[in-house]
Amino acid sequence: RSKEQGRNSFRFFNKVMKESAKKRMEMEISLRQALENNEFILHYQPKLNIKTSAVYGMEALIRWQPEDSKLIYPGQFIELAEETGLIIPMGEWVLREACKQCKMWHDAGYPLTVSVNLSAQQFQKHDLTELIAKIIVETGLNPDALELELTESTVMKEPKQAAYMLQQLKELGVSISIDDFGTGFSSLSYLNQFPIDTLKIDRSFINDAHENEANQAIAAAIISLAHGLGLGVVAEGVENEEQLRFLKLKQCDAAQGYFVGKPMGEELILDYIKKNTG
Ligand code: C2E
Ligand code: MG
Ligand code: MG
Ligand code: MG
Repeated sequence: RSKEQGRNSFRFFNKVMKESAKKRMEMEISLRQALENNEFILHYQPKLNIKTSAVYGMEALIRWQPEDSKLIYPGQFIELAEETGLIIPMGEWVLREACKQCKMWHDAGYPLTVSVNLSAQQFQKHDLTELIAKIIVETGLNPDALELELTESTVMKEPKQAAYMLQQLKELGVSISIDDFGTGFSSLSYLNQFPIDTLKIDRSFINDAHENEANQAIAAAIISLAHGLGLGVVAEGVENEEQLRFLKLKQCDAAQGYFVGKPMGEELILDYIKKNTG
């Protein structure tokens, strides 16, 4: 691959912002090429157990690293990947890569969990359970260590199918977390109908919780809702000590955010793990 190609894929990416069909098609082509050329990488963001102060898991977050250009964040390509169906092979790569990485941590003596974000399209494919089962066998990862993060809207698109799918996934031994909780429009009744393990409070309720009483009330209510239902609860977007102190006071189980650790590449995260766990 030439440097020229790398620059081209970045140029394509910028043009897409203009939304014309042609530009979208070019973007689709460069995304497809990026997948073939292994230009995607995973960063990992730590999750902290607030009570024990132990780092217990990592969330895998995809990034696109075109040759010779800046790192591109998922906000700029996930939607198109979903619309074009590319999210299916991309998501499979993420699952396999994250499971492989987590198995390496285990082999190195760090029994961490790994969380993978699933898009609605992936969740609606009937063979998702088989795929995950296959990846678990292939990588040798203990299924206990794998957590799937789904948003409310993903789960509520086809509630009947979702219930069946979640049941199958639970039988594999993986856990289920509801991402960005509190931002959706669905009723709460699904919470006790689906086999869910954890709620992740959306960061919009956390970021300014220390100065916004309404958000404080919402975060506290989600924590007690989760506990009342026997679920775990993780706060995302924790950026300072004050927010962490608030969450501890409200007995939130876990925290994630820049204050705990930013998403990091393979090498930095291993240093982080060596310093912060074990
Ligand atoms: P998410 O799963 O809710 O991930 C949290 C996002 O918040 C991440 O952005 C993370 O970098 C950012 N973040 C974490 N802590 C803080 C903080 O303290 N402050 C602020 N301001 N932000 C924080 P990122 O990596 O850009 O990912 C954005 C979204 O893209 C994710 O939201 C997830 O929905 C999606 N995504 C990421 N990776 C994948 C993937 O492999 N597959 C799928 N389907 N979606 C993914
Ligand atoms: Mg997530
Ligand atoms: Mg989230
Ligand atoms: Mg979010």
